[in-house]
Amino acid sequence: MNFTDLNLIPELMHAISDMGYEMPSPIQEKAITPVLAGYDLVGCAQTGTGKTAAFALPILQQLSTREAQGVRPIRALILTPTRELALQIEESFEALGKYLPLCEAVLFGGVGQQPQVDALKRGVDILVATPGRLLDLIGQGYVDLRQVEIFVLDEADRMLDMGFIHDVRQVIKKLPEKRQTLLFSATMPKEIRELSNSMLKNPVRVSV
Ligand code: AMP
Repeated sequence: MNFTDLNLIPELMHAISDMGYEMPSPIQEKAITPVLAGYDLVGCAQTGTGKTAAFALPILQQLSTREAQGVRPIRALILTPTRELALQIEESFEALGKYLPLCEAVLFGGVGQQPQVDALKRGVDILVATPGRLLDLIGQGYVDLRQVEIFVLDEADRMLDMGFIHDVRQVIKKLPEKRQTLLFSATMPKEIRELSNSMLKNPVRVSV
């Protein structure tokens, strides 16, 4: 399969070629089409498989081809367990979305919150965050998740290992019922299967 088989808009094809990607990776081949079609998805894939672009490309395409509801709402939320992953995911969205008029921001703990609050105030379409800082800023009224259209729970098994599952559940309560949800995990322990059953609707399952 080639990227040309995936029905991506020219702005994304251009960015993919700038990145030097020649062929979609297996997770990209399997995930991009169902995510573009609006399905929920459970992806069994590790970091290093190209899973970030597997969700970033269809998210960027959906947001840029669909009208936002309300004034500059947060339309996609990606929850990930660590600051390093959060930064990498935000960089991927920026690089792949460079020809699209969408704005990203990243939130994580262990640093001052003011620059993050300033970024939120400028308007954010795609928010990448770790759970603790996100809940903090929701509590302070800086983040409103009521217009989120697509939610990604990245590295769900690591969230569990790091003790973040309670925080993740708190975040999910702030999201609208009607949304698209994608869950990625390298392994599928019982707690993650239960979480995915409660959180996703008729998901497509892909594994690499
Ligand atoms: P990830 O698993 O998302 O952390 O991606 C791992 C690395 O693979 C990153 O450096 C990506 O830029 C790179 N990558 C993602 N998709 C492709 C692709 N289709 N071809 C070549 N490299 C890729």
